[in-house]
This record gives sequence, C-alpha cells and structure tokens, in this order.
Amino acid sequence: MIDVIIIGAGFSGIAAARKLHQANKSFLVLEARDRIGGRVYSKHLSDDLYVDLGGQWIGPSQTRMYELCEAYGVEYFETYDQGYNIIDLNEKIKTYKGIIPKMDILSLINLDWIMRKLERMAKTIPLHAPWTHAKAFVYDQISMEDFLARNCRTQACLSVMRIATETIFAAKLESLSLLHALFYIKSGKNLNTLINVKNGAQQHRLVGGMQILLEKMAKPFDDQVLLEHAVIEINQGIGGVSVIGKGYNFSAKKVIIAIPPPLVSEIKFDPPLSPEKTIVINQINMGKVGKCFAIYEKPFWRNDGFSGQTLADSNSPFQAMYDCSPKNVAYGIIMAFTIADRAEEFFNKELSKRQDILTGFLVRYFGEKASNPMQYLDHTMTDDAWSGGCYAGIYPLGAWTNFQNAYSKPEGNIIWAGTESSDVWFGYIEGAVRAGERAVGEILDFRS
Ligand SMILES: Cc1cc2nc3c(=O)[nH]c(=O)nc-3n(C[C@H](O)[C@H](O)[C@H](O)COP(=O)(O)OP(=O)(O)OC[C@H]3O[C@@H](n4cnc5c(N)ncnc54)[C@H](O)[C@@H]3O)c2cc1C
Repeated sequence: MIDVIIIGAGFSGIAAARKLHQANKSFLVLEARDRIGGRVYSKHLSDDLYVDLGGQWIGPSQTRMYELCEAYGVEYFETYDQGYNIIDLNEKIKTYKGIIPKMDILSLINLDWIMRKLERMAKTIPLHAPWTHAKAFVYDQISMEDFLARNCRTQACLSVMRIATETIFAAKLESLSLLHALFYIKSGKNLNTLINVKNGAQQHRLVGGMQILLEKMAKPFDDQVLLEHAVIEINQGIGGVSVIGKGYNFSAKKVIIAIPPPLVSEIKFDPPLSPEKTIVINQINMGKVGKCFAIYEKPFWRNDGFSGQTLADSNSPFQAMYDCSPKNVAYGIIMAFTIADRAEEFFNKELSKRQDILTGFLVRYFGEKASNPMQYLDHTMTDDAWSGGCYAGIYPLGAWTNFQNAYSKPEGNIIWAGTESSDVWFGYIEGAVRAGERAVGEILDFRS
C-alpha cells in the first residue's frame, strides 16, 4: 500500500510531495488538470514573453518562498516601484509618490487613523485560534463593509479603503467577516506589508514566472504526479483510505487534501465528513479576481516618470494596476486587477470590448503612447472548475466563531493542506507551502 496520496498539485500538494520524497516515503499526487500549479499559472506567449495569470509576487517574511528560490536557483527581482503612482477618484486623476495617495487633509487624517486602528486590532488576533479572541463574536458579526462605513468619515477615505481592501482580499466586502479580515492581516504580518510593493507582499517576482519554481520542485518525482486524475470519491476503512476517480482506485495509509475548500464538497466521502467540516466547507466562499494584461514593446511610462501603479474607484473596472514587465525589460507589461462586482461586470463583456476598456484607461493615465498595445489578454480563475475562485477562500460572517478550526482538522486518515489551512500567510503561496509541509509533519510525527 502507498504511504500517502496527495490530492492537488498546486504549491501546497507539491510542497507536501517534496517533503515525503525527502523522507523516502511512497506517494502519488493526483491532479485534475493537465498541468501542475493550480492557482499559479505562468503562461508563455513566446520564447521570451510570459505572464503570470495566477499568483506571482513574494515578499518579506515569506521565508519558505525565499528558501525554495535559493534551493532551486530561481532568480527573483524587484517589482518596478519608482516614479509617480496614480489615483483615479471621482473621475479625477492625481499623481503621488510613496504609499499614501493625494487627498484632502481630513481624508488623510481619517485614512491614517483607520489604518492604525486595523493594525492595532489585527495584532491582537491569535493566529492559531482567532475564535478565542475576547471580541471574536463581535468582530465575526461585522462585515468589512460595515466596519469601513462606520469608520470612514469622508467619501475619499472610504473609496481608498474599499480599493485597498478589495485588492487585498479579492472579495465583496459585505461578505467578508471583520474577524477573518483581521486574521488575514495578521497572518500576512500586517496591513502595510499586504499593501506595499517595497518591503511588502508585492516586492519580488520570479524571473520566468512563478510556475518555474514549482516545476523545479516537482522534477525529482514527476513520474509520481498523475495529471488529469480528478478525484471523485474517498472511502476510509480500517487501516487505509481508497481514492477513486475515473478509471482508477488507489489505496494509501494516509491522504492529504490540498485543493480549494469549495472543491472538497464535490468529492464524495464514505463515511461522510463531520457535520462541522461539511458546513464550513459550504460556507467558505472563494474570492473573485481577473488579471488583464496590456503588452507593449517597452515600459514607456517609466521614462515618463510613472511607476505603472494605479488605484481607481468604481468609475473604473480596475481597482489597481502594476508594472509587470519582465526583469530584462524585453517588453513593457501593465497588469490590471478587476475584482468582485467589477470583475463580474467586466467579464460579461466581449474580449475586444474588454481590451478597448483597458486601453482607454491606460491612455487616460499614461497618454497616447498607450493606445496601441502589441497584445491584450485577460484571465480569471473564478469560473475555473478546478479553482472555484481566487485568490483564496473567504470566511463569511460567523464562520470562524461557529466552526473554529473545523476546516483544517484531520478526519481519520485524511489530513488537510492547501493555503486555506495555513495560519501564516493564509491565501498566499507561502501559506500553501507551509500547509503542505505541516500536513506531512502531522503524518511523520504521528508515525514516530
Ligand atoms: C489571480 C491570482 C493572483 C494571486 N496572486 C498572488 C500573489 O501574487 N502572491 C501569492 O502569494 N499568492 C497569490 N495568489 C494566491 C495563490 O496563488 C494561492 O494561494 C496558492 O497558489 C494556492 O495554492 P494551493 O496549492 O493551496 O491551491 P491550488 O493552487 O488551488 O492547487 C490545488 C490543486 O488541486 C487541483 N484539484 C482541485 N480539485 C481536485 C480534485 N477533485 N482532484 C484532483 N485535483 C484537484 C487543482 O487543479 C489545483 O491544481 C493569487 C491567486 C490568484 C488566482
């Protein structure tokens, strides 16, 4: 019998497999798609042109990601962060440097106050058990939208906070519990880290794309990674688990599940999962985000003094844009995020219309030079059967306090991994890696 079957070949599943490989355990990784990577997907458009359609950035305190880059000789580089940023509020464009947008003095004071308040509150959340916080029940009954509405005293402050939080969580703020938001902020160190490029979660990108790292990690055992092997049924008996899909039935001593929470509910379990696990799986929603890329011959905006970073209120489909040109600047690439309601509306339009809309905004921000991108493409994993949404799972109101750690708890011989089971950098690739490694630790510790 195989020691462990891992379900899902994203960063979490492959990090788990790597640990089992190092420990000389027998294992198989079963992956539904025809590629590894999951929510990380580096698409190569030609020999020297690629874009990261999914996760791409790493930043300070993501220690496992930097260690893995080091171990596999994968080079990373600074996200371009020089020159003027743009903020587009009420159809007026302003430029600014640093992280605080240009606003009236009252809005600036309000913004500073609310950011500090969120930081202070987040600091007090126990990461391993957010539901034990003295005010957990109060925070878990308030949505992020309510919190902002109560604490933002000017429209400009509210708009900026909405843009920032939608971009961080990729979620509708009405459906996001304040307790989850505070947990997520602490899990990613603090709010400034989550927002910032320099010294923040957007600081570095990998040369050649994020997927390169994962492919290098999987190379030594790639014959044990079975693609197009969607799992549809898991049966637990005495001494083992059988994992069933179309045309196969494998048995193992343990199973690690490393897939997004809503997709767990599509697998049939016998015996069924515990009621609390079943309910929480049904409650965790995935966020919604699309990435839209305008590709130019050169990042011309840099010479004109712009960083390529923009923020915009709901007059635009794009909450935020970043310069995502490759390190060698062989091309100039602007990547625009469209998130939550804005993404829904945007992706209902035809491709050519979507291109026109992005180009229109880029001309507004960077002038006529932006009017003719060499290429446009966009992508969302929201409707993707094997992601179910993105960036990650979002706990709605009441879920943390009602179900506590039900999602990440093992059930018999089934162990949970995936970024949504991590206390640290929940929702990020770092969290996925840590969760995969932790899951293997649970198995190896148990046996020793
Ligand atoms: C647009 C976007 C931008 C992002 N940006 C960043 C970023 O810059 N930095 C960052 O750190 N994070 C970012 N993230 C989040 C990050 O990509 C994820 O947190 C991380 O990749 C999750 O890894 P995972 O292994 O937990 O899950 P996944 O990557 O989702 O892997 C799960 C795997 O399981 C497979 N699977 C699902 N169901 C089954 C089944 N029944 N049987 C077999 N296989 C199955 C899936 O196909 C998938 O390959 C972003 C995500 C998106 C979508």
